[in-house]
Amino acid sequence: MDGFMNPQKNIGLKQPDKQWSFVESALVARHAPEVGPHPIHIKCPSCGKSITTRVEAETYSKTHFCAAALVMTIVCCPLACLVYLLDTWKRKHHYCTNCKNYLGTYDG
Ligand SMILES: [Zn+2]
Repeated sequence: MDGFMNPQKNIGLKQPDKQWSFVESALVARHAPEVGPHPIHIKCPSCGKSITTRVEAETYSKTHFCAAALVMTIVCCPLACLVYLLDTWKRKHHYCTNCKNYLGTYDG
């Protein structure tokens, strides 16, 4: 039928759920402390005390990529093991030394 308009077609142009999730993620990102590869001195958002963060290093995809790149450039290079021994190419997780709360991650 010519001229027939579907009234449901114009409904739903606004999607408040998506807008709210964007606002919520922006607020979370704004309140997360910026962390680096070394311990930092901050006020813990959980317990409120001024602390120096405890840093734990973790291997992740970048660590494995660097090791693989060393092995591929120099065949059977024993230096590839150093990638796992050094903290340089590892992900750093920061925790509060008082309440053990997770504070943030640095990806190196
Ligand atoms: Zn704390």
